[in-house]
Amino acid sequence: MKTIDQCNFKDKKALLRVDFNVPLDKEFNITDDKRMRAALPTINKILNDGGSVILMSHLGRPKGGPEAKFSLKHILGDLSRMLDLEVKFSTDCIGQEATDKALNLVPGQVLLLENLRFYKEEEEGNKEFAGKLASLGDVYVNDAFGTAHRAHASTSIVAEFFPTAKYFGYLMAEELKNAEKVNHHAVKPFTAIMGGAKVSDKILLIESLLDKVDNLIIGGGMAYTFAKAQGGEIGTSLLEADRMPLCLELLEKAKLKGVKIFLPLDTVIADKFDNEADKKTVNTGEIPQDWMGLDIGPKSIELFSEVIKNSKTLLWNGPMGVFEMDNFAHGTRAIVDAVVAATQENDAFSLIGGGDSAAAIAKFNMEDKVSYVSTGGGALLEYMEGKELPGVKAINS
Ligand code: AMP
Repeated sequence: MKTIDQCNFKDKKALLRVDFNVPLDKEFNITDDKRMRAALPTINKILNDGGSVILMSHLGRPKGGPEAKFSLKHILGDLSRMLDLEVKFSTDCIGQEATDKALNLVPGQVLLLENLRFYKEEEEGNKEFAGKLASLGDVYVNDAFGTAHRAHASTSIVAEFFPTAKYFGYLMAEELKNAEKVNHHAVKPFTAIMGGAKVSDKILLIESLLDKVDNLIIGGGMAYTFAKAQGGEIGTSLLEADRMPLCLELLEKAKLKGVKIFLPLDTVIADKFDNEADKKTVNTGEIPQDWMGLDIGPKSIELFSEVIKNSKTLLWNGPMGVFEMDNFAHGTRAIVDAVVAATQENDAFSLIGGGDSAAAIAKFNMEDKVSYVSTGGGALLEYMEGKELPGVKAINS
């Protein structure tokens, strides 16, 4: 793997793609800086070599032009504090200001460019735009795993301008190492735990996992489509009716491949989508009309926990219920505890997919007690589906 360890950055300007797409509150305070902290080792390596760093990132989903609320200026103060130096800022990621500020950088300095997605050319993967970004640096480094599944100008196309001077940053290398370990070298028994809202988002992943795992646990909102497909009553729970035949097909395929599927035995139901709703526990497939399933029940927790605790490799993507509401977070919390127990007591390797699973692990302060929490949601899913990520291919080719 071509990592920055193979480069001495002395007197070089590194054009570094990071994923600083961090959540901000209404006053633009960062509510979770994990992604920024994760990029610090790469930045520091370049600076310690005697190089300078030009940081590029996106933030939020601007509609193709500048929008103050999505300015990366909001994170400048925190970034400067984290690096213990004054990070410079260019209010445009290309053009005269960016060119001048990049030109004037001296070793040891860091320049942050304004949000790349203020140009629609970024997401279009426009080559001319990528060329303008490329002109700012001597070496290209990609440390943005969270956007590695996108063929955008800054994540993929820009690498074409650095045929011999392109590298993975430490975060990318670590993410790929851990994903690879689970995808291709999993110690058995290998259990995947799938949850979250929609079956449709995870079908490809489930299909590809059937060739690798011994056990597949399915919980969260997506389990109700399975329950309905099997003839159960699910009240007003989440349902993707058009996916019901596919659910049955997946169950059939699992049987043929010898994969054990574990679906919830019981479910915690609510009379409305509210933390303070009336709630009770019923068997799967016996949800009364006008009630909705928002969490897995105690019998499911016991069953799932047992399977997890006996596993040697664990991949978890998606919560077991609406964990954002404390009264419906018990199932997700119990799964976190089981994954932690397997990791600590059974020496299992546990990889937690980004997105909501990472948020759940963080909510329960268990990030340090599992093997690895990925910073990539979609990127990790696509990697696990067996797709070649454009951001990875661009460095490897
Ligand atoms: P995903 O992004 O697909 O992993 O979905 C995560 C979201 O699914 C979280 O915001 C959860 O609140 C939500 N979720 C999980 N279980 C349920 C459920 N039973 N009903 C509604 N939403 C759910």
